[in-house]
Amino acid sequence: MRPFCFRKRYKMKKLTSLIVAAALFASALCACSFGSGSSGSDEISLSFEAMDTFISAKLYGAQQETVDKIESEIKRLDSELSVVNAEGENNYVYRLNRDGSAQVSDDVAELARQSLELCKSTNGALDVTVYPFIEEWGFVSKDYKIPSKSRLSELSGLVNYSNVAQSGSNLSFKKEGMKLDFGAVAKGYAADMVQKILKDNASSAIVNLGGTVLAFGKKHDESLWRVGIADPDNSAAYMGMLSCTDKIIATSGSYERCFTGEDGKTYSHIIDPKTGIPVDNGILSVTIISDSGLRSDALSTALFVMGKEGAEKYYRENKDFDYIILAADKKAYVTAGVYDDFKLADGYDYKTIIVE
Ligand code: AMP
Ligand code: MG
Repeated sequence: MRPFCFRKRYKMKKLTSLIVAAALFASALCACSFGSGSSGSDEISLSFEAMDTFISAKLYGAQQETVDKIESEIKRLDSELSVVNAEGENNYVYRLNRDGSAQVSDDVAELARQSLELCKSTNGALDVTVYPFIEEWGFVSKDYKIPSKSRLSELSGLVNYSNVAQSGSNLSFKKEGMKLDFGAVAKGYAADMVQKILKDNASSAIVNLGGTVLAFGKKHDESLWRVGIADPDNSAAYMGMLSCTDKIIATSGSYERCFTGEDGKTYSHIIDPKTGIPVDNGILSVTIISDSGLRSDALSTALFVMGKEGAEKYYRENKDFDYIILAADKKAYVTAGVYDDFKLADGYDYKTIIVE
């Protein structure tokens, strides 16, 4: 099956309600399999929409106030990080992008500091200033278009994370017209925040932030959580399962937000900051497994941009995370740390290759 991508705007409008329903279903289903042994009288469920996605959780050994706190903290972070939220007093990223500088909350300052470090360590494969390109391709308005080369080269002057100045909680741009967007890292950062809340307030939990999954503790029967890895050809299905505990798992997929242009080519929402062009390197998805949500989310995007060889190199230089990379030639590259914990689902014939 081909990835589901938007073809033309008029088609998109007709399909909107269907897509919304499908997206909610897919993200709820795709991230985790709760399996047997996780149910119990002390289970509390949570589901709501925030961060432009569907968020769901099952908590064990927790009080309702913990669940409420998780929801309110995620919503707070969402309004602080939103690039489109013109309302309210705490829309720090919106104001930074509008005014070119802003005094931000401690949370946003910390996220900025860590994200900028990750931009540097990935040599700009992750670049939190890529937003002007994202807008130009229509990924914000959903009015997709293929920009001209000259327009992309004009915009390239605005895209460079090293032109973001940070002094404590003050952020500013060194060039007029730059924009910051934490879209590639925000769900991971939110997962870290949820993990902190859970540490003293729940015995175990599985939390799915639109495909970024926090597997906290173990199931009631002491078995590991099983997290589904989406099938890139049909993201409502799993192509494999990963058993894990106390990990945050983030996936970047070329199938997630993409469109088919007038030229018949499919363009994904992950952009190479050096060219301004959506990445097309034979990778379908990158799943990162680590102890840090921010790191998992940042690296899922960055390693996608780096490509298979770049990802391997980065892994060997760092080794504080694991990955599962699915390639268009039906190969699954799986790092040694999770190789034994990853099982293909029935009917999937990916050739699994260990990366050491
Ligand atoms: P993710 O799904 O975590 O890979 O995040 C992808 C989102 O991050 C996109 O929808 C864009 O808004 C933004 N993005 C795309 N390419 C990059 C990049 N190379 N660096 C940082 N953010 C990006
Ligand atoms: Mg990411």
